Amino acid sequence: MRQSEQKPLLKQYWEIKRQYQETIVFFRVGDFYEMFYEDAKEAAALLNIALTTRDKNSPNPIPLCGVPHHAATSYLAKLLKAGKTVALCEQVEDPKEAKGLVRREVVRLYTPGTLFDDELLDAKAANFLAALSVQPVPAHSHCYGLASIDLSTGQFLIAEFSEQDSMLDELIRLGPQEVIIPDNTDTIALGRLLEPLRFPRVTEQPSAYFELQASQDSLRAHFEVDLMDELGLPSEGPGIRAGGCILRYLKQTQPTLEHRHIQKPELLEPTREMHLDAMTMRNLELVQALHPDQQHATLLSVLDHTVTAMGSRLLRQWIVRPLIDNESIQRRLDAVSTFLDNLKFRLGVRSLLKDLHDLERLSSRVVMGTATPRDVLRLNDSLNVLPQLFQFFDGMSDPLLSSILQRWDALPDVAALIEESIDPNAPASVKEGPIFRDGVDPVIDELRHAARNGVQWLTDLEQRERDQSGIDALRIKYNQVFGYYFEVTKTNLSRVPEHFRRKQTLVNAERFTTEDLDRVEAQLSGTNEKLRRAEQERFQAMLQQMSGQVFRIQKMARQVALLDVLSNFAEVASRNRYVKPDVHDGGIIFIKNGRHPVVEQFDLPEGFIPNDSYLDFDAHRLLLLTGPNMAGKSTFLRQTGLIVLMAHMGCFVPASEATIGVIDRMFTRVGASDNLALGLSTFMVEMLETAKILRGATSRSLILLDEIGRGTSTYDGLSLAWAIAEHIQDRRVLGARTLFATHYHEMTDLEKFREGVQNLTVAVKEDKDQVIFLRKIKPGKAARSYGIHVGKLAGLPSALIARAEEVLAQLEQEASSESMSNRIHQRDPELAGSLSPPPHPLVEEIKQLELFSMTPLEALNRLAEIQKRLDAE
Ligand code: ATP
Repeated sequence: MRQSEQKPLLKQYWEIKRQYQETIVFFRVGDFYEMFYEDAKEAAALLNIALTTRDKNSPNPIPLCGVPHHAATSYLAKLLKAGKTVALCEQVEDPKEAKGLVRREVVRLYTPGTLFDDELLDAKAANFLAALSVQPVPAHSHCYGLASIDLSTGQFLIAEFSEQDSMLDELIRLGPQEVIIPDNTDTIALGRLLEPLRFPRVTEQPSAYFELQASQDSLRAHFEVDLMDELGLPSEGPGIRAGGCILRYLKQTQPTLEHRHIQKPELLEPTREMHLDAMTMRNLELVQALHPDQQHATLLSVLDHTVTAMGSRLLRQWIVRPLIDNESIQRRLDAVSTFLDNLKFRLGVRSLLKDLHDLERLSSRVVMGTATPRDVLRLNDSLNVLPQLFQFFDGMSDPLLSSILQRWDALPDVAALIEESIDPNAPASVKEGPIFRDGVDPVIDELRHAARNGVQWLTDLEQRERDQSGIDALRIKYNQVFGYYFEVTKTNLSRVPEHFRRKQTLVNAERFTTEDLDRVEAQLSGTNEKLRRAEQERFQAMLQQMSGQVFRIQKMARQVALLDVLSNFAEVASRNRYVKPDVHDGGIIFIKNGRHPVVEQFDLPEGFIPNDSYLDFDAHRLLLLTGPNMAGKSTFLRQTGLIVLMAHMGCFVPASEATIGVIDRMFTRVGASDNLALGLSTFMVEMLETAKILRGATSRSLILLDEIGRGTSTYDGLSLAWAIAEHIQDRRVLGARTLFATHYHEMTDLEKFREGVQNLTVAVKEDKDQVIFLRKIKPGKAARSYGIHVGKLAGLPSALIARAEEVLAQLEQEASSESMSNRIHQRDPELAGSLSPPPHPLVEEIKQLELFSMTPLEALNRLAEIQKRLDAE
C-alpha cells in the first residue's frame, strides 16, 4: 500500500467501523482481511496471531493484524466461539477498474444465529435464531411472541404465549444460538431472565422494528403476498411482531444474500404435543446433560444412531416434542416394528441413507448463492440415491411408510440438469475451473478452446527454445507472483540465448522471460480470467434456476429424515433390547423390568438391575418412594419418566413389557436449578418450581418429585412435602399420577390414611458393618436412611462418623412415643372424624341401651341419670 493511499483507506475504514462498533471488522485489503486498532488487539489475542503495526515510523503507529482471506472461516469460527460477532467487509469492485480507492462494503455480519456455513455449524443440530416480542394485553399483563428461523435449513416457526414461563419453555426446547429482544425497558427484565439460560447471545433491536405495521410489511414483502391471511397466520399479535423483526434482522445481517428458502412460518400449536417444561427437559437430560462434560450421557446420545444429518436433527426435535395423540404414536411404533422385523430391509435402507448428503443445508446454500460446484455435485449424488431407496419400499403396506412414499419426489429434473451441466471433477471453489462440461455453453467452450490453444502454444515454445539452446532441462514454469518463466539451473547459464531477459535470481537457478512468452502469457491470463468469469456467471444462473425447486428438495429432505429416524429407532431397539410399548388412552402405566436408558449403558459393577413401575388413576396414583441414600431412587424416578416419554415419541422402550397410558404433560422437580443465578435461594427455587408444577399439572399428567422440602428445617420441609403430596393425591384438587421420592419416613403413613397412595422402597441388605444396595424396588417403606453409611463411603473422618452415630441414636431415642405423623393425621381436616379423640364413655352406654324393651318411664329415668352424671363432670 502506497503512503499516499493510507489516509483515504483509514477514512473509509472508520466510516464502516462506526456502524459496527460492537463488532470486529474484517477489512479486506488484497488477499487479507485486516483488523485495526482495538479490534486488532482483541482479535490477535483471541486468534493467537501476531499483532503488528501499520505505519511503523509514525509517532502513533496503528495496531494491525490480519488473516489470509482463503482461510478466513477457521478464524471466524474461533471469534464466534469466543462470543464475538464479525462484520465481513469486502472490496466490492475490481481493483483494476476502480478509480481511486476501491469501494468496500460490509457484505455479511456473522452472528451465532445467522450461520448457514457447514464449517461453522454442527451438522447434527439445528441452528436457530429466535426473536421475542412482548405485547401488553388488558386481561393478562402481557402476552409473548416467539419467532425462530434456522437459516441453514429454512425452517421458520412462530408461537404465541399468554405466560412468560411457557415462552421460556419453548425457547429451551428450540435451544437457539441467538435471541433477539426489543431494546425497550419492558424487556430489560426479560433479558436478565434469558441470561442464565445460557443462550450464547442476546441481541437487542430497536423496539420500532417490532411494531405491528413494520412487521407485517416485512413478512408480506419477504413472502411476496398481499394479505397476511395468505400466510395462514393471525394478522396481528406478538407472533407476527417477532416474525417480521426476525426477517428484517436477517436482511440486515446479510444484505447481499437471497433468503427465498425460508419456508412460510409454521404456527406452533402447543396442544398437539406433550407439554414439557424447561426443568423436565433439563432434569431428564433429554438433549443436554446437566454437567457440560457429560454430553455423551443424554437420551439423545443413546438414541442417536441416525445416519444422516437431517435424521439426527429431526430426532432431536422428536425427543423434545413427544406426541400426545395415540393414533400418531401408534403409526410411528408400527413403522418402527416394520423396520425391526425385517433386518434385510432395515440394513438396506440405512446403507443407502448413508450415501445421502445434507439435502436441506445444500439446498439452502443453492438459494443463497453460496453453494460451490462441489456442493451441487453432492446434491446430485444424493438425488441419485433416491430412486434406489424408493425401490426398497415396493409393495410396502405400513401406513406411515406408505404415506412417505406417496410424497416421494426424486427430483429427476434437478438431477438431470446437474448431470448434463456440471463437470464431474468440478472444484470445491467457484474461483477455479472447470465447472461446466464441454458443450453446455458456447462462450465457455470458446474461451476454453483459446486457453487450451495457449497451453499448447507454451508447450511448443518450450520445445523450440530447448532445441535451439540445447539446454535439455529448460522448462516453462508458473507461479502466482511472477507468472510464466523459463527456469535455467546455474550449470546451464552459459548456454542461455541472448533474447532471454532475466526476471529473478535464485540460489541454484535463474528465471527468464522472452517477448514470445510475455505475449502468450498476456493472452492466456486474459482468456483464463474471462473463462473464470463466464463459468462463475453461468454457475450463479444455474443456482438461480435450481432455487425454484428448493421447496421440493426440502420436502424430500423431510421424508428422508423421517425414514432415518424411524429406522434408527428400530436399530436402537435391536441393539439395546427395547420392546414395543402398548400405548393406550387409559390410565395405567405399567413397566415391567424397566431400565434407565442412559444409566444402563454405563459400566456398572453389578450390571443394571431392572425394576417395575405401576401407576394408575386409582389405588396407585401416588407412589411414595423411601430408601437409603444412593440406593437408586432418583434413577427409578427418571427411568419411569424417560420410558413414558420414549413411548410418546414412538420409540421402543428399555423394559421387558410396557403398557403406557397417554399423558398430557410431564413435570419433574429434581435437584438444584440454574435459576440460582437469579439470586434466589435453593429453597426458594424449589418452591417456585413446585408451585409451577401444581399450577400446570392436570389429572392426566405425570409428576416426578425428588426430595421436595429438603432445603429448609426438617419440620418446615416435612410439612410442605406432606401438604404437597396430599394436594396432588386429592382427586378433587389434582389427582395426577406421581412418583414422590423422599427421606421423610413419616410420610409413609400417608398410605394408611389417603387413598391412592402406595409406599415403595429400595431393598438393602445389611451384612455386619456393610450395607449392600440391592437396587430392587419393592412395596413397603424404608427402615433407615443410611446417610451416615454414605458419609463413611465418601471418606468422612472416622471420628466424625462415630460422633454422627451417637447423635443419631440420641435423636431417635428422643423421638416421642407418639410419632410425628400421627400428630399430623389428627390435624388432617379430612380425617378429623376417624382420628378425633375417642368418644365419651356415655356415648357408648347410650348406644348399648335396648330402648324397645324399656318403658317410656324407664327411658326417661335413664336420661335424667345421664344428665346428672354429665353435670357432675
Ligand atoms: P440419594 O437419595 O442420595 O439422592 P438415590 O437413592 O436417588 O440417592 P441414585 O442417584 O438413583 O440414588 O443412584 C445412585 C447410583 O446407583 C447411580 O448413580 C447408579 O450408578 C446406581 N444405580 C441406581 N439404580 C440402579 C439400578 N437399578 N441398577 C444398577 N445400578 C443402579
